Amino acid sequence: MENKLRFYNTLTRKIETFIPNEEGKVALYTCGPTVYHFAHIGNLRSYIMEDLLEKTLRWLGYDVKRVMNITDVGHLSSDADTGEDKMLKGAKREHKSVMEIARFYTDAFFSDCGKLNIKTPDVVEPATNCIPEFIHMIRTLLEKGYAYEQGGNIYFDTSRLKEYYVLSNHSEQELLVGVREDVDEDANKRNKSDFVLWFTKSKFDDQELKWESPWGLGYPGWHIECSCISMKHLGEYMDIHCGGVDNIFPHHTNEIAQSESCLGHKWCNYWFHVHHLVDKSKSGELAKMSKSSGDFLTVSLLQKKGYDPVVYRMFCLQSHYRKPLEFSYEVLDNMSAAYEKLVRRVGTLDREGEVDQEKYAVYRSRFEQALCDDLNSAMAITVLYDMLRAEMSDATKYALAEDFDRVLSLNLTTAHAAKSAEKQVDPELERYILARIEERKAAKKEKDFARADAIRAELQEKGIVLEDTREGVKWKKV
Ligand code: AMP
Ligand code: ZN
Repeated sequence: MENKLRFYNTLTRKIETFIPNEEGKVALYTCGPTVYHFAHIGNLRSYIMEDLLEKTLRWLGYDVKRVMNITDVGHLSSDADTGEDKMLKGAKREHKSVMEIARFYTDAFFSDCGKLNIKTPDVVEPATNCIPEFIHMIRTLLEKGYAYEQGGNIYFDTSRLKEYYVLSNHSEQELLVGVREDVDEDANKRNKSDFVLWFTKSKFDDQELKWESPWGLGYPGWHIECSCISMKHLGEYMDIHCGGVDNIFPHHTNEIAQSESCLGHKWCNYWFHVHHLVDKSKSGELAKMSKSSGDFLTVSLLQKKGYDPVVYRMFCLQSHYRKPLEFSYEVLDNMSAAYEKLVRRVGTLDREGEVDQEKYAVYRSRFEQALCDDLNSAMAITVLYDMLRAEMSDATKYALAEDFDRVLSLNLTTAHAAKSAEKQVDPELERYILARIEERKAAKKEKDFARADAIRAELQEKGIVLEDTREGVKWKKV
């Protein structure tokens, strides 16, 4: 490994060099979707950037095992354990059973991930598969004195911890809870920050899925699932835990509390959080795109509007994961035009010939450096553009583009062929057209308009029409 990956660790609030517990191996965990509705493109921003992290680790040669849960029970409409179960809400909305809803939206989620070239994690586990594991952990927490039973529910006792807010800034989080409108204080809690591990009594008693437990018929709280599912598949130590920034508190804060109390040692060293996709669709003000508002953008909607989903991936990669990203169709349109040009450039490279190993190594290293610098994907794309402009053989460029795409996953080498097949244009002819367009550009620059017109006329005779647009010269077959 030539470069070492450095990225921002929410736990230490610093950019740190990544050192795994076991040399060469990475235990990676991602909080999965709550499957009561389609994932919106904000959720998918998080998964795209987590996919980038995973692929960067693999590029660097790590043996990665990535686990993801599917939340199909226990996530209430407020993250702070109040309100109705989101799954039940989804089921009522669609007059279906909770399991039907879960199956449908899990499939929809992975279909969206596929369109965005997000790799499916090595292990995907629905929460409802792991009820015995949840019960076992809750029992341990009760035995160790970290949990209590009150009013029929089991709560985690946050007053037992010296540092409950390790991941989040205490005063900041009190503020957050303070402004949340839907926080409906639970009188059973001994401390405001305590959270539910197991419900047998809820205001919403029509919960469809319930299981027998030592504390009566009930269902698990939301946070317990990620602690149990990760330990089931990754063991007692985890290297990196991922999620969107809204997961920092209370979800990840509670995961740390219960996991470390249960294990009796530190659990996860690095916490990777992706900032939100924001838009102005609701009130004209910039706001986090959210599923519960019901007013959100999906991959299918973008497709219906004619966008290639991979263009949305590129839109995400062009911005840093730790900054809020504002969605706009205008930027997406520009991205579409840039993407089309980019894949045309790569797709028309003449891949036959010698790869210049020295130049190959230089650009490979630059690309890697950008990624290792807190996953600077925008810089990695800049390296791609620089490389395509540089003086070297087409074969070297093609090999580099193919290599970079192991991480970027933008279909760099395949998209153009697919588009050309649709347009039924022979790649040889296309290379010729592009070369003629370049010659015409040069002629115009030299004010040799007669020659420029002759090139246009010659192409027209071959059935190729040129159009001068703001984004450059476009051509089509007629
Ligand atoms: P959920 O399905 O609500 O459990 O969320 C799935 C993932 O999407 C979590 O990691 C969230 O933190 C993340 N997420 C939710 N809203 C956004 C957003 N607007 N932008 C980016 N990530 C988000
Ligand atoms: Zn989680």
